[in-house]
Amino acid sequence: MDIAEFRRRGREMVDFVADYYENIEKRPVFPDVEPGYLRSLIPSEAPVDPETYEDIMKDVERVIMPGVTHWQSPNFFAYFPANSSLPALLADMLSGAIGCIGFTWAASPACTELETVMLDWLGKMLQLPECFLAGTDGQGGGVIQGTASEATLMSLLAARCKTVRRVQASNSQLLEGEIFSKMMAYTSEEAHSSVERAAQIAGVMIRKVPTDDTYAVRGEMLKKMVEMDKAAGLIPFYFCATLGTTPSCAFDHITELGPICNDENMWMHVDAAYAGSAFVCPEFRHLLNGIEYANSFDFNPHKWLLVNFDCSAMWVKNRADLIGAFKVDPLYLKHENQESGLVTDYRHWQIPLGRRFRSLKMWFVFRLYGHKGLQSHIRHHVTLAKEFESLVRADKRFEICAEVILGLVCFRLKGEDVLSENLLKKINQKREIHLVPCQLSGRFVLRFAVCSRTTESHHIQKAWQHITQLTFEVLQVSNY
Ligand code: PLP
Repeated sequence: MDIAEFRRRGREMVDFVADYYENIEKRPVFPDVEPGYLRSLIPSEAPVDPETYEDIMKDVERVIMPGVTHWQSPNFFAYFPANSSLPALLADMLSGAIGCIGFTWAASPACTELETVMLDWLGKMLQLPECFLAGTDGQGGGVIQGTASEATLMSLLAARCKTVRRVQASNSQLLEGEIFSKMMAYTSEEAHSSVERAAQIAGVMIRKVPTDDTYAVRGEMLKKMVEMDKAAGLIPFYFCATLGTTPSCAFDHITELGPICNDENMWMHVDAAYAGSAFVCPEFRHLLNGIEYANSFDFNPHKWLLVNFDCSAMWVKNRADLIGAFKVDPLYLKHENQESGLVTDYRHWQIPLGRRFRSLKMWFVFRLYGHKGLQSHIRHHVTLAKEFESLVRADKRFEICAEVILGLVCFRLKGEDVLSENLLKKINQKREIHLVPCQLSGRFVLRFAVCSRTTESHHIQKAWQHITQLTFEVLQVSNY
C-alpha cells in the first residue's frame, strides 16, 4: 500500500466506521456463534502471495462481525462501559501513525511530557489532593497504565518493596523470603478478582475483608483482622480499597480505612476502575473523600470517560516509592537528561518497557468535550440508570438489590434464583440486549449497566419492555 492508496483506504475506513456506528443498533448486540466458529472461515495458513484490500474488507463482514459482541451498541448493558468516542478514535490513529515507544523521556519527549500534564489535568478535574499531582516540583504524579489490574499489581509490588526495606532497617538479619512469607495484604470480599491475582503474582498472602449490608468495607472490620494477624506474627502491609465495586458499585469507607492504614504503615491503594470517572462531577466528588490517606489511586478513563481502551490513570503520592522499587538501568536505555531531575522515564513506573502514545487520546477528548462535556456524559448515564431503577421499582415482581448511586442497577425477580437465572438466559439468547449477572448476599442478581455513549431514554424503555415480556414467559413456565 503506497501513500496514495492509504489516503483512499483511510477515507473509506472512516466511512466504514461511521456506517458501523450509525447502524450498530440493527446488529444483534451479542453474537450467535459456537466456540471455534472462526477457524473454518479462514485458511489455515497465512497467504503466500499478497491479497487485495477489498478481499479483506469483505471478510470483515463475513468472518469478524458475526463473532463481535457490540460493546458500543446502545443495547449493551453488560459488565461496565468501555466508552469509545470519535475524538479518541482519531487521536488513536495519530498515535499509531507516530508509532513511538515512549519508555524514556528521550525515546519521545512529547509522549512523556503530554502524559504527565494530562494526568495533572485529569487529577485537577477530579479535585485530587495536590500531593498526587506532578506539577513542576511535586513529589507525586500520574502515569497511564494499560489496565486497573496493572495499576493494582504495581502498587502491591511497590508496597512489598517498601515494607521489606522498612522491616530490614530494624532487623537486617531477616531475609527477603522470610519477610514475604509473613506479609499480608487485604481487600474487600467484593473487590475485583484482579486484586487477588496481584497478590498471587507477588507471592504474598491476601485476606478478604467482610463487608457491611451495603457491600462496603468499614474500618472496624479491617482493624480487627489486622490486629489478629499482628498478634500471630504476620506483617500487614497493603490494603486495596474499592470505590465502585464490580458486582454492585459499593464504596468502601476510605475515610475510616485510610487512617488505619496510615497508622499501621500499610499502603492503601484505591481502585475506582469504573466509578472514578464520576468524580469529574462535583455532586459525586464526596465519594472520593478520604483519598488524601491513600498512597496510590487508579481509575479507568477507558471505562466511562470516553477515552478508548486502553487508558488506566494511576497516581501516586510519592513517585519515588514506585520508581525506586524497580530500577534497572542498562546502557542502551540511558540518556543524558535522566539524572537532571527535570524529566520522567515512565519505564520505571510500569511492568512492560514499551508504551504507546496514549495521552494523545486524552488530550483530544478533554479538549473536544471540555470538563463540562465530560460531566454531561456522566450525568446523562446516571439519569438513565435512575430511569431504569424507577421502572424496576414500579413492578412488584422485581426487587432492587443495591443502592443505585451511579450508572449500575442491580435487580432480580423476587423468589428463587432460578427465576432470575432463566430470565437472564432468555435475555441473552434473544440477543436484543446484553446483560451479565453477579452474586450479592448469596443470591443471583442481574446487573444493568448503562454503557454506550449513545444510549438514550428510548433504549432504556425498550430494554425494560423486552425484559418484562421475557419475564412473562419465565413466570408462565414456572407457574407463578
Ligand atoms: N477493578 C474494578 C473495580 C473493576 O470493576 C474492574 C473491571 O471491571 C477492574 C478492576 C479490572 O479492570 P481492568 O480490565 O482495567 O484491569
